[in-house]
Amino acid sequence: VAKATGKGRCETFQPRHHAVQLERERLQADLQHALDGDQLVVHYQPLVDLGTGRIDGYEALLRWQHPERGLVSPADFIPLAETSGLIVPIGRWVLREATALAAGWQHPADPAGVHVSVNVSVRQFVHGDLLHDVADALRRSGLAPHLLTLEITESLFASDVRDVTLKLERLKDLGVRLALDDFGTGYSSLSYLRRFPFDILKIDKSFVEGIDVNRQNQAVASAIVTLGQTLELDLVAEGIETPGELRSLEALGVRLGQGFHLGRPGPAALVCPTPGIRRADRRDPASVGAPLR
Ligand code: C2E
Ligand code: MG
Ligand code: MG
Ligand code: MG
Repeated sequence: VAKATGKGRCETFQPRHHAVQLERERLQADLQHALDGDQLVVHYQPLVDLGTGRIDGYEALLRWQHPERGLVSPADFIPLAETSGLIVPIGRWVLREATALAAGWQHPADPAGVHVSVNVSVRQFVHGDLLHDVADALRRSGLAPHLLTLEITESLFASDVRDVTLKLERLKDLGVRLALDDFGTGYSSLSYLRRFPFDILKIDKSFVEGIDVNRQNQAVASAIVTLGQTLELDLVAEGIETPGELRSLEALGVRLGQGFHLGRPGPAALVCPTPGIRRADRRDPASVGAPLR
């Protein structure tokens, strides 16, 4: 065919493009099937108070237990879920799972409580009825609203600002907390930080990496901390992998940390935030319960 039309470059491009398209369609059908058929699971990673070692909460992180591909990372299927619109029902499901689990952590002897964080895509925010889904998950689970945090990335700011502001404010009215995820990597405008009702800033792991030895990262993180403190936002550092990074962040005054050094994401069955003995992983209590230094 390519020879007949004389467009030689299409000869290699088209079939490959076609294959990619087929692969996408197959993956999309698989993903719909995964949602219907119990292949999606939520893992939980602890957020640790760097001053006390107490587990402040857990972030819900979606996984796909694919029958042939094994455990698929969200980086590989969230984008597809977003473009196909499947992120709306998937996100609703994650909200229900995470709030139901966290409701079981509530304990009268523990008034501070253990938070749960759920990631929310811009698509859910703009096209889905996120407000309804969040209110519904809270009502079904009985979780106190202040124990739920929604994590949203800066890509949100690329959409209609007035609409976004209204929606964020209505979510705040429910009593949930809002975190700005991966801060510093996206569509940043500092005016948005002031304007939108965020409670928490999550310092992206790219600024945490080697912060104990990398002066540029130190400077960026330090500026974010100052900004957060000035705007009275709670600070979380993500992706802490070494004791050195942990010490530097603590010295900067970051209150909460998250990362493989503090506890890896794991299945719900391994999360056991019993008041007094907060441990992320029953099999490996040292990973979280041990002194931080
Ligand atoms: P995120 O919200 O920024 O989540 C943090 C990611 O960093 C997670 O990747 C986590 O496993 C990983 N991580 C944690 N500590 C460390 C560390 O010390 N070192 C390194 N290298 N990585 C660390 P994961 O689970 O693969 O998720 C990737 C992204 O997928 C998330 O980034 C989030 O944007 C998105 N995502 C995950 N679950 C959901 C969900 O339920 N809904 C939506 N819309 N997005 C989700
Ligand atoms: Mg997140
Ligand atoms: Mg993040
Ligand atoms: Mg991230």
